[in-house]
Amino acid sequence: MLEISNLALPLDAGLEGSQADKLVRRAAARALNVPPRDIAEIRLLKRSVDARKKHDVHFVATLGVTLAAGAQAEAAAIEAAVGRKGAPNVKAHQPYDPLQVPQAATASRAAAEPRPIVVGTGPAGLFCALYLARAGLRPLVVERGAAVDDRLAAVDAFNAGGELNPHTNIQFGEGGAGTFSDGKLTTNIKSPWSRHVLHLFVEAGAPEEILWQAKPHIGTDLLVNVVRTMRKQIVAAGGQVRFETQLTGLQFENGELAAAELTDVATGAVERIPARRIVLACGHSARDTFELIRDAGVHMEQKPFSVGVRIEHPQQLINRAQYGKAADHPALGAADYKLSVHLRPKAKKAQQAADQQGRGVYTFCMCPGGEVVCAASEPGGVVVNGMSRFARDGRNANSALLVGIGPEDFESADPLAGVQLQRNMERAAYEASIAAGGKPYQAPAQTVGDFLAHTAGNTSKNVRPTYARGVAWCDLRSALPPFVADAMAEALPLLDRRLHGFADPQAVMTGVETRSSSPVRIVRGKNLQAQLAAEAPDPDVQNAPEPETGLYPCGEGAGYAGGIMSAACDGLRVAAALVDQVMQPGQKP
Ligand code: FAD
Repeated sequence: MLEISNLALPLDAGLEGSQADKLVRRAAARALNVPPRDIAEIRLLKRSVDARKKHDVHFVATLGVTLAAGAQAEAAAIEAAVGRKGAPNVKAHQPYDPLQVPQAATASRAAAEPRPIVVGTGPAGLFCALYLARAGLRPLVVERGAAVDDRLAAVDAFNAGGELNPHTNIQFGEGGAGTFSDGKLTTNIKSPWSRHVLHLFVEAGAPEEILWQAKPHIGTDLLVNVVRTMRKQIVAAGGQVRFETQLTGLQFENGELAAAELTDVATGAVERIPARRIVLACGHSARDTFELIRDAGVHMEQKPFSVGVRIEHPQQLINRAQYGKAADHPALGAADYKLSVHLRPKAKKAQQAADQQGRGVYTFCMCPGGEVVCAASEPGGVVVNGMSRFARDGRNANSALLVGIGPEDFESADPLAGVQLQRNMERAAYEASIAAGGKPYQAPAQTVGDFLAHTAGNTSKNVRPTYARGVAWCDLRSALPPFVADAMAEALPLLDRRLHGFADPQAVMTGVETRSSSPVRIVRGKNLQAQLAAEAPDPDVQNAPEPETGLYPCGEGAGYAGGIMSAACDGLRVAAALVDQVMQPGQKP
């Protein structure tokens, strides 16, 4: 099969039906300089929207093309394209090489190892557990929250005004933080695991189009089924999954893991089991788990992260700003955006050291046609985030508007000082809403116009907020550290220059967004295992042997991922290292 990349296609080529097929076939034939009838088969391998020129919005595609005349004709087509003026790139297509999982069961039995434990069923834990199960290691997977169907019911009840369940909510439960998400499968990392993640998602029921979309997305409605299927695959391969079971203790002996304490969150029953290897894929919101890791003497560090608010606009405004007159073309879905600005450095006397260097302000996790969700996991705190369904057909677009902060902004040297900053903001948001006459877990909200004018209290004329429990109109500054509010105010007009309408006075900001990434890093060595602070290898000694603690920090909570794709990739990476270490004990990674 030939692969033609960088091929411009008209928007109509993205519609269903024979007319669209003809447009694609004609473009492929032109690229290969052959008559359309010479083409036997066309497969879409990648497609993105090029909207740089608003008068010429079109697709850019990579196609897989099979010529009816066979392999020789294809080799000739590659040669003919070389050096031909204006010809798109043509090369031989490399088909997907499926993930090969080595078999480790015999080695694990020979070493009389207890089954590995995977903590958490977010993307990192699920992909890790699936790999371990297929390697024959029969992982025990523990998840503090409920299975996905019970979780849906718990989230619905909370959205309808019920109590917050601290174990089963938008952050915790089967599928992890990603279940109630936009399901964007984009990532900034280049990982050899990415293709496998996408194929494993499809194997678990995700739509095939994620394999060719430049910005693939699944959506909450489909993710729920994908997550459920992955659990069944883990169990079918020999794993065991226990819900409402929380890791509450770790025991090390001579620097190596010896036992884990598990607590049934429904009954409070505590159980201690032997443990030689634990993958800790607990996500960024497991604050009590971070405390237990710190108190067990595991090496952790503070880490920069970002905080801010969700901003909502009518989706139509974003579509028009991005696609111009093409905004209503049926082949284009709801438009997205990604904006950033680096603020000018402030005078030396600025209170926060980071302001002296100039802060980064950016949009994150943009959800076209989505809704703002109540993402709290601790009672007495308000946290917002965004999600969407597969169709992305909601009335509003939302995105996080975040300001970068770092250890220099924290109040102490405790590795968990960033958690305290998050918690302070979440409680301030809860209080701000109550002070403005709101009910518990309603979110404080303000229009951009009011925020910039330092006035509070007006509802928006053209954006109806989507936050399920309702918003309380007030001054968002009361829930934000002053340097965060100031940075947002400075950035809004600058971001509006990049996306016209972004700082529309009627756009609505809802607070606070504090859980965009992990505020800590659980340090791991080249062997991907954590280090005990007391036994970390001397950095001055070259090639010092790395301790084999048996604890594998993994995914976003450990500070090694930022999103569904990178967390899933990290899950596979950690699983592969663990399997290697079981099969070849004592070998250097
Ligand atoms: P998590 O998904 O957080 O999973 C950790 C799991 O561990 C949780 O289920 C938790 O209950 C469990 N756990 C924690 N502690 C314990 C314990 N002690 N014992 C047992 N279980 C424990 N990312 C994207 O790439 N695209 C998006 O569109 C997107 N949208 C999002 C929307 C929302 C509303 C949210 C909240 C997040 C979104 N994200 C998105 C971020 C993404 O979900 C996370 O980056 C990703 O889920 C991190 O994966 P993880 O496996 O490392 O951790």
